Amino acid sequence: MKKLKLISESDHLTGALNRRAFYQKLARITKYHKKQKGTLIILDLDHFKQINDTYAHSFGDIVIKETAEQLKKQISKQDLLARWGGEEFLIFLRGYDEQEAKIIANTMQQHIAQYEFILTDEAINATVSIGVYHSNNIQLLDEGINHADEALYKAKANGRNCVVVYNE
Ligand code: GH3
Ligand code: MG
Ligand code: MG
Repeated sequence: MKKLKLISESDHLTGALNRRAFYQKLARITKYHKKQKGTLIILDLDHFKQINDTYAHSFGDIVIKETAEQLKKQISKQDLLARWGGEEFLIFLRGYDEQEAKIIANTMQQHIAQYEFILTDEAINATVSIGVYHSNNIQLLDEGINHADEALYKAKANGRNCVVVYNE
């Protein structure tokens, strides 16, 4: 039964949470922990279409999978990682200040930029753009995600491979 639950909650390529499971888990967290600091991080691989076109879709899959593995290493057990769309991830961090959350997001961005994705005998680099939304009382999930998304849009417009924090 435990295995079934795990399968129904996760994305098959990366093992990260799927959207539904992310919503459910975060709803539970915000219900039982009122007035808590929380951060939503939306992370999108840059020019991913080009990676697929240049190195094949199967290699693109490897990039998505290994990006998820690397992100998982950067967060703690109480945080959540979901595959939000094709080459897009959503992360929920618990309990940090905005400044700390920004440092974590910057570390993720820099870590992926220097990580080598191996294609037979070639090392390929990829970058991510990140939008961050922080609140001292995280409650309205959709609104928070929209704000993180706006910040991501700015990060793309600023030239990609960077982090933008939403401010009111
Ligand atoms: P940007 O920097 O603006 O994000 O550009 P982009 O090329 O990353 O964004 P765009 O939305 O144009 O393209 C995303 C691509 O991701 C298109 C789609 O084919 C690919 N994609 C989505 N899901 C998967 C997947 O599961 N595997 C692979 N290999 N590619 C995927
Ligand atoms: Mg992209
Ligand atoms: Mg995208």
